[in-house]
Amino acid sequence: MKINRRDLMKGVLAASALSVAGKIQAKEAEKTQVVVIGGGLSGLNTALLLKDAGIDAIVLEGSDRVGGRVYTADDVETRPEYGASQIGRSYARLIALCSRFNLKLVPEHRHLMPMSNYIEKTWIKSTEWENSPLNKTVGKERKIIPPLLGSKLLIEANPLENLNDWLDPKNAGYDISIGELLRQRGVSEEAIKLASATTDMQNASALGMLQEKNRTLFDASFGGQKLEVIDRPYGFENKKGEHDGLAQINNIEGGASRLPEAMAKALGDNVRMNKIVRQVDMNEKGAEVRCMDGSRFQCDYVVSAIPFSTLQYVNIYPEVAGRQEEGIYTLNYVDTCRAFGIIEEPYWEEDGIEPSFFSDETVQMFWALEKRPDEDKSRFMVVFTDNAASRMDQMSKADALALIESEINRMRPSTKGKLKFLDIYGWKNDPLIQGCRHMYTPGQVNRFAKEMIEPHHRMHFAGEHTRRVDFGMESALESGERVAFEILSRA
Ligand SMILES: Cc1cc2nc3c(=O)[nH]c(=O)nc-3n(C[C@H](O)[C@H](O)[C@H](O)COP(=O)(O)OP(=O)(O)OC[C@H]3O[C@@H](n4cnc5c(N)ncnc54)[C@H](O)[C@@H]3O)c2cc1C
Repeated sequence: MKINRRDLMKGVLAASALSVAGKIQAKEAEKTQVVVIGGGLSGLNTALLLKDAGIDAIVLEGSDRVGGRVYTADDVETRPEYGASQIGRSYARLIALCSRFNLKLVPEHRHLMPMSNYIEKTWIKSTEWENSPLNKTVGKERKIIPPLLGSKLLIEANPLENLNDWLDPKNAGYDISIGELLRQRGVSEEAIKLASATTDMQNASALGMLQEKNRTLFDASFGGQKLEVIDRPYGFENKKGEHDGLAQINNIEGGASRLPEAMAKALGDNVRMNKIVRQVDMNEKGAEVRCMDGSRFQCDYVVSAIPFSTLQYVNIYPEVAGRQEEGIYTLNYVDTCRAFGIIEEPYWEEDGIEPSFFSDETVQMFWALEKRPDEDKSRFMVVFTDNAASRMDQMSKADALALIESEINRMRPSTKGKLKFLDIYGWKNDPLIQGCRHMYTPGQVNRFAKEMIEPHHRMHFAGEHTRRVDFGMESALESGERVAFEILSRA
């Protein structure tokens, strides 16, 4: 056989490629007891609790920052919170963590200025809504302004008493759409239509949302606190409580992101950034977690602390099956998109309409915020939810902001040149989260809410979507605590 120079070169190249591959393969997998996938509050809390119990846990976070849906935009003027910021008085775990890391809780100052309504191209003051000819709702509904309809009607229709009632089989019949539940309660079609601007009437399970409403009411009355309702949209006096010194709603001084940052600091080198997990292999001896950059981690147990919207893209062996698989691949995620800015001049002095407004047009909710004592200008927020948010997320930031501004100017010419738009953030566009939150569709609570959080081989499931009794940030911490105990009971 004749070997020419070209064949020889091919052989040399192939051999060197093999030896490079061999070196990569030879790269040792790092060993630890537990790998936690995801550096949001749920993942960080799992790792901290395990560390406190003497278990070595490494957190793999796919992005270049910790916190996930807790995200203070420090580099944007006014430092808006893209994600979570409100902390209730019953957030026991979160309050304890703030105290552990010397983070100060301060009463939230995000009071909305009075609200008007732009319905069918007509401005209607909230005080005039009840008797307006454009208000086609009926009976008691007439008193509720459109942006509050969904939430108030659902609270009034709430049959649940205890925080875990939503998983009690006796309440399985409420796993229907919110619209259907309200119809059963005699709510008018017009009220359901208006409320659908802020609450998903068709695709959200009433049972899932009732869990949340119950938890909200629990927080509002926590510690026997009496709320003093004030004349503001969504309004109550955010006074400090007599016993615990906490207000009804609190923020972390300096921004919500300071909490996950402090948690990550306490975990030190065990938090690894830019590690997108792509595969988990498990057998009777242990588990191996592989990242996109080729790094591998061997451990006894794995924690998924990432939303199901992104866990779908992680290969898991042995594969998940049955109702758990159904949960991971079909649990619904909804969107929130918010634009932030500054009010340069009080446009309401020119047109005499209340500063904030709700509309049945593209711009759903415009919140003008009262000036904080440390501010010389008011801020504003434009809030889009569900489909409206996903539509905004389909545009570039610049196009979305230009559209919002021109729509507001069209509806309300007095705002021209008086609003400074700073930024917009939509959660469907975060590739590692893909939505602001989970939202069971009708029937999903009964189908898999219980089964989807059960441990699978060496894998355990945390994250706000695995909540049992809490909500928001506290539910992420609750889930981390549950998973840490699950692992401690096996380790
Ligand atoms: C707009 C908005 C407002 C909110 N407001 C409030 C509020 O005021 N009060 C309140 O209590 N709650 C609020 N919440 C809810 C709260 O933010 C969440 O419940 C909580 O932060 C969720 O934490 P988590 O750990 O479950 O998930 P996440 O915070 O989503 O963390 C998951 C982490 O996993 C990472 N990840 C994903 N895939 C991978 C992968 N393959 N490999 C490695 N890492 C990966 C992500 O980058 C992310 O950091 C709000 C949420 C949003 C979006």
